[in-house]
Amino acid sequence: MTRSGGGVQVELGIDGFDFRERRTFDAVVAEMGTAPVTELYDELVAASTNHGAVDLAALLAGRPQDVVRNEAGSFRLYRVGDAVSSRNVHAAILDAARLCRAV
Ligand SMILES: Cc1cc2nc3c(=O)[nH]c(=O)nc-3n(C[C@H](O)[C@H](O)[C@H](O)COP(=O)(O)OP(=O)(O)OC[C@H]3O[C@@H](n4cnc5c(N)ncnc54)[C@H](O)[C@@H]3O)c2cc1C
Repeated sequence: MTRSGGGVQVELGIDGFDFRERRTFDAVVAEMGTAPVTELYDELVAASTNHGAVDLAALLAGRPQDVVRNEAGSFRLYRVGDAVSSRNVHAAILDAARLCRAV
């Protein structure tokens, strides 16, 4: 971000995409994004039976999850709520309810 003339020149972009665009505005208001805290998930994923994977078709159909990617694993692991991305209480409960209602 640089000041130029009477405005502010910024480079716009989207994480994960090559899109970049330089534009000049009168003013810029920034809302900082957040990154999920994934350390616990990352530590556990190798020891899980499903390596953290979710069968989305089963999830949407309300069927139990049965993905096995690691026979030596000793538990199933799912990432829900803010561990996926910063959202709200409703999203966290819905993520967990979708998985647990079929258990
Ligand atoms: C200031 C603020 C205000 C908010 N206001 C609202 C609101 O008004 N309405 C709304 O819907 N949402 C609101 N949110 C968002 C909401 O709080 C979260 O989206 C929601 O709490 C996510 O739930 P969660 O269970 O995924 O994570 P969390 O509620 O963060 O629960 C994760 C838990 O895991 C624990 N934990 C982390 N690491 C470990 C570890 N290694 N071992 C053991 N335990 C661990 C943490 O201590 C925590 O208790 C707000 C968030 C903030 C920060």
